[in-house]
Amino acid sequence: MRADMPLDLKSLITARLGENYKLHERHLNPTLVRVQRIIGFDQVYARAEGAYLYDLDERDYLDFLSGYSVFNIGRNHPAVQRAITDVLEMDLPNMVQMDCSLLSGLLAEALLKKLPPHLDAVFFCNSGAEANEGAIKFARAATGRSGLLSLHGSFHGLSHGALSVMGDEHFREGFGPLLENCARVKMGDLEELEMHLKRKDVAAFIIEPVQGKGVNFPTGDYYREAQRLCREHGTLLVCDEVQTGLGRTGRWWGFEHWDLEPDIITVAKSLSGGYVPCAAIVARRAIYQKTFSRLDRCVVHSSTFGRNNLAMACGLATLQVIDDEDLVERARVNGAKLVARIEELKKKHSLIKQVRGMGMMVAIEFHEPSELSARMGWKLLHRVERELFAQMLVTSLFQQHRILTQLAGHSMDVIKILPPLIIGDREIDRFVTALDAVLADCRSFPGPIWNLGANFIKHSLSRSTVELASAGS
Ligand code: PLP
Repeated sequence: MRADMPLDLKSLITARLGENYKLHERHLNPTLVRVQRIIGFDQVYARAEGAYLYDLDERDYLDFLSGYSVFNIGRNHPAVQRAITDVLEMDLPNMVQMDCSLLSGLLAEALLKKLPPHLDAVFFCNSGAEANEGAIKFARAATGRSGLLSLHGSFHGLSHGALSVMGDEHFREGFGPLLENCARVKMGDLEELEMHLKRKDVAAFIIEPVQGKGVNFPTGDYYREAQRLCREHGTLLVCDEVQTGLGRTGRWWGFEHWDLEPDIITVAKSLSGGYVPCAAIVARRAIYQKTFSRLDRCVVHSSTFGRNNLAMACGLATLQVIDDEDLVERARVNGAKLVARIEELKKKHSLIKQVRGMGMMVAIEFHEPSELSARMGWKLLHRVERELFAQMLVTSLFQQHRILTQLAGHSMDVIKILPPLIIGDREIDRFVTALDAVLADCRSFPGPIWNLGANFIKHSLSRSTVELASAGS
């Protein structure tokens, strides 16, 4: 029986849009609401399209955050919408569980076409953290070892296994005890890595090819040598491609920049096309089968919604959009253009220390400026807490120029930009012009931009901004 009066969602949204923050304050996470208010991000959006969000007055906001890299193909892409509508219109059987659905087979086939042939077995789940949890289990089952290594500064998700390999103490605080036998090593230090690997109890070394926090990656052959050492000592190399995958860095996968051959990769975020959670673990078949090793272990690792039709259809549509719109190449070309344009600003603004990035994953690092007045403001803010300066810029870019960006992590003078891969000259121009203006404003101390910083201090914001900024890394 179908209901006579189905939910009229459109009327409900029209009637109540604007109550967002009040509802969240009451029923969800009031601490988050408080921070959003203090940093001036308590905006109500009415719709979104491509690289833009729009408020109730149809003012556009340039989205250089992409939902923490969920929207590589832009928001509300019609091809993904079409795939969702098709699934709904066909009344497909979904999550029968005791069958093998066509769409999950098709998405696995399509995903593997984008990967080197040694990665040939797929497991679908719902989030980046869940994919990393699974990768940890696969690696332990395949090697019979318990040890896990990761890099300082890494972010792998906020569930217990993922937290255990997290490179940032802040997120672990208060949630222990976590998994035993986990250690973090310094990026670039092969000796330290080998010292751990030699124990022969390390199941996996987990890396993000380009770290989300701070957009850091090694120079030289560190990753290649690390891979060699892992092989020598029987440790699996896991690449967390949750953020770097699907074109974000100007290649299909981050590991391609170093010609790596990971044993397992994890994928999430943009695979969903921005609608339905969708994530995957891709491994060598031999590794995968060590988990599903006997008939009675056929579902020893599983996830109820993992292969659901909407997620699979969104994944299929997303992969096709990335191909059809040549988004990997566009990320490479326009990402390089964006970095070059920001680099040019360095000549004008002594505040800019370094611009680093790969494709559309870009960080701008700041340091103490040479101009006397700006230096006074810089020192004042840094006496309280380091990341307040970056937050001041992020808030200013948003409030003055309607551009969404984020802090790159804890205790850093770094802002991070993750534009959708679809952006072009217009968006690059708008961002560079805005950044230029905001940095010029920093020369006036005291002045309106520094007042923002003073306001953060007043609200003792230091700890909380960081949590918000880094939540999705
Ligand atoms: N791994 C990386 C590299 C990430 O950037 C993130 C999220 O930001 C995760 C894992 C966790 O993904 P999720 O939030 O979908 O659990």
